[in-house]
Amino acid sequence: MAVVAGNWKMHHGPRATRAFFSSLTLPSNAGSHEILVFPSAVSLAAAVAAPERDPLVQLGVQNIHWEDKGAFTGEISASMAREAGAAFTLVGHSERRHVFGETDEEVARKFKAARQAGLVPVACVGETLEERRANRVEEVILRQLDAVLSSVDSAEGRFLLAYEPVWAIGTGETATPADAAAAHGTLRARLDEALGPSRAARVPILYGGSVKPGNARELLTASNVDGVLVGGASLDAASFAALVEAAG
Ligand code: PEP
Repeated sequence: MAVVAGNWKMHHGPRATRAFFSSLTLPSNAGSHEILVFPSAVSLAAAVAAPERDPLVQLGVQNIHWEDKGAFTGEISASMAREAGAAFTLVGHSERRHVFGETDEEVARKFKAARQAGLVPVACVGETLEERRANRVEEVILRQLDAVLSSVDSAEGRFLLAYEPVWAIGTGETATPADAAAAHGTLRARLDEALGPSRAARVPILYGGSVKPGNARELLTASNVDGVLVGGASLDAASFAALVEAAG
């Protein structure tokens, strides 16, 4: 079982969301995998209501605020997202960290708020090109992982991790399967240490960064790669179906 997740970023309004689901035909292996789509918050209702949406496709939001309500103009809370039909949320996507300046501490607060509201968080970690060139991959991704793990105070509730090297997101550059395996092995070891092996084994680690139907299978066979988080190539229904098919 692999996780195939599509992050639509700031693409697809309600009309395009309906069109996506009306043209999406999942391949026959879809039932063996966990399939997630993260539309924009304003398109979530259209995705929830899309009559042709296969119930195998579960929905999430791309970001939440850590508070449940209050004077935070423009933000949405985990409980609101849940009420609107989201079951998952991304937290700490690299665009949130690097374009909007989210800190590890804020990501940890969002992660905790998601779990408290019953949303499953997908916590994203990953190094910049500069950090990779300075041989700081392990240090950076473990720091980001430790921040969210510090907010895991109960065994309740699932979460997922996504390793998304910043230099590979939206660039057409992909980590090699060996690079992905090395980073995922580092994260897996820390999860084992922090949660114990049986609980850690229930946390899938997805790879993200220029995944396409043509490279998904190779990445999915790398050690400790339990799924893919896909931006650009998830926007087109045929391409998304091909990604699911590549999961085997
Ligand atoms: C992403 O948005 O999480 C992502 C990995 O984007 P892309 O697949 O376009 O690189």
